[in-house]
Amino acid sequence: MSTAVHDATHLPAKLSELLRSMLEEEFAAQTVRLTQLTVYARLPRRGGYDPRTLRALTASTRQRIADTAHALRRMSEGTYGICVSCDKPIPLGRLRAVPHAAHCALCERTAEPAAREVLSV
Ligand SMILES: [Zn+2]
Repeated sequence: MSTAVHDATHLPAKLSELLRSMLEEEFAAQTVRLTQLTVYARLPRRGGYDPRTLRALTASTRQRIADTAHALRRMSEGTYGICVSCDKPIPLGRLRAVPHAAHCALCERTAEPAAREVLSV
C-alpha cells in the first residue's frame, strides 16, 4: 500500500451513479415504510400485524434506513465500496446486490450476528 487514501474511484462512474440512485430510492422507500409501520402501531388492529412482528419490522426498517444513510455518507466522503472492517474494496457484484453493504462478504459473516437475528424474525 503506497497511500492511505481510500479511493472509491475503483467504481466506474456510471455504476457509482446507479448505486447512488438505488440508495436514494431505498432510503425514500424505507422512510415511507417506517411511517406506515408507525401509523399501524397506533391503530387498534395494528394494520393486521401482531405486536411482535410489527416491532421486528419496525426495527429492521430503522436499521435499513440507518445502513442506507451511512452508505450515502460514505459515498460523499469517498469511502463507499471499501469494507469498514478490513479496508479492502467490496466486490462490485456484492455492491450491486446489497448497495448499502458496509462490509465485504467475509467480514459480514463475522460481524453483526444480532442484526441478522432481527431480520430473520
Ligand atoms: Zn472486509
